[in-house]
Amino acid sequence: MTSFAVINPATEEVVRSVALTSAEETDTAIARARAAFPAWRAVSPGDRARLLRRFADAVEGDIENLAQLEVTNSGHTIGNARWEAGNVRDVLNYYSASPERLIGKQIPVPGGVNLTFAEPLGVVSVIVPWNFPMPIAGWGFAPALAAGNTVVLKPAELTPLTAIRLGELAREAGIPEDVFQVLPGKGSVVGQRFVDNPAVRKVVFTGSTEVGKQIMAGCAAQVKRVTLELGGKNANIVFADADLEKAAARAPYGVFDNAGQDCCARSLILVQASAYDKFMELLEPAVKGVVVGDPGLEATEMGPLISAQHKQKVSSYISSDSPVAFRGSAPEGDGFWFPPTVVTPSGLQDPLASDEIFGPVVAVVRFEDEADAVKMANHTEYGLSGSIWTRDVGRALRVSRGVEAGNLSVNSHSSVRYWTPFGGFKQSGLGRELGPDAVDAFTETKNVFISTEE
Ligand code: NAD
Repeated sequence: MTSFAVINPATEEVVRSVALTSAEETDTAIARARAAFPAWRAVSPGDRARLLRRFADAVEGDIENLAQLEVTNSGHTIGNARWEAGNVRDVLNYYSASPERLIGKQIPVPGGVNLTFAEPLGVVSVIVPWNFPMPIAGWGFAPALAAGNTVVLKPAELTPLTAIRLGELAREAGIPEDVFQVLPGKGSVVGQRFVDNPAVRKVVFTGSTEVGKQIMAGCAAQVKRVTLELGGKNANIVFADADLEKAAARAPYGVFDNAGQDCCARSLILVQASAYDKFMELLEPAVKGVVVGDPGLEATEMGPLISAQHKQKVSSYISSDSPVAFRGSAPEGDGFWFPPTVVTPSGLQDPLASDEIFGPVVAVVRFEDEADAVKMANHTEYGLSGSIWTRDVGRALRVSRGVEAGNLSVNSHSSVRYWTPFGGFKQSGLGRELGPDAVDAFTETKNVFISTEE
């Protein structure tokens, strides 16, 4: 197979055929990225910053086009897709402030001067999943480029269109040829070369925990640097003292956004037993009110799943015996539609409560007290995100400290701001992206001692 037919998941129509990069072509691209590295790292910090800001401006000028591409390729709602393109612009602008600030230290030592330098790594590779093609690409390439690395990026097979466009925009903005290359292709071919080719000094991987483990094992052979952003089964903990109306009204958007295809989806709602009945009563109209349909329409809140195969996987969790409490709506006919679905498994041993289903399915389970809630939230091997709803500030902080996850929100479902760190505990990942420190992960610290002996 040398090309891949990109399908619109809302209509099942073929959008475009995209050529798949071969292993040989990947190695050639890596060699070109390596050759481009010395000149790119030598670009003065101010000029590198200016180029990144120009790239951000080019993205800004193309937001509507990028957003429409994502609606067509991924079935994202137009509102979300505009936010995602804007996130790439913002992340580029944020890290455009880094080149002039990659400062080292002068450390007092006897007999000389000791300096540290933040050196770029060389060629950095970025492997992107299909669920957020634009933001996840930007979280990798923007800080990597800012630190003086050259970048090869592989979008997911299913969703290459916006990444290809971002590559064109980089060129139009003046980022030199070969400094940022987009290589559509298969994980087992292009992604595997990123892991195996020794000229690649780091792999930034976002995707499933299963593939992430293989990448980490592959990178170990060369002690290759790796950042992993993997799966999640995230708890939304609702205490009886919370604003239950607000908690119930917001809960659907904490899990059904992007049709539940979100590593941060709060797909396990833990509700304090004394508030359970009231919460479920309030949740039902909120779930039934989620507007599911044509992702190109402004009012739409949830689109289709990404593919027929993924729909099959999500559907396999729901049968006539499943403990379905209630469901929202979804269009009939063409498109990979699946309605928002609320299930009430009897405990956490049920796969509905413990698997990352990655679709619009949420499990609601009761808990008794605070200790119980923390224990239940931590029962999973994952540790990515979570939410805590309570009016008690002390409890909010205790539970936030107790839940083993990288990104928590209190009385909200927010996980991602480009200027705050993002990443997972346990099997949800390794390392952090975004925020003030992400550039450090794209540098090595070099220590130099200069003798002042006569
Ligand atoms: P996936 O692991 O199947 O694929 C992710 C990427 O890896 C794709 O580009 C794929 O082509 C590539 N790949 C596959 N096999 C490879 C191999 N052997 N070597 C190198 N690359 C390979 O994941 P997916 O189905 O595209 O994405 C969904 C998963 O991503 C979910 O588990 C989700 O939780 C996770 N995710 C995590 C985050 C986070 O930040 N923690 C964000 C988004 C998605």
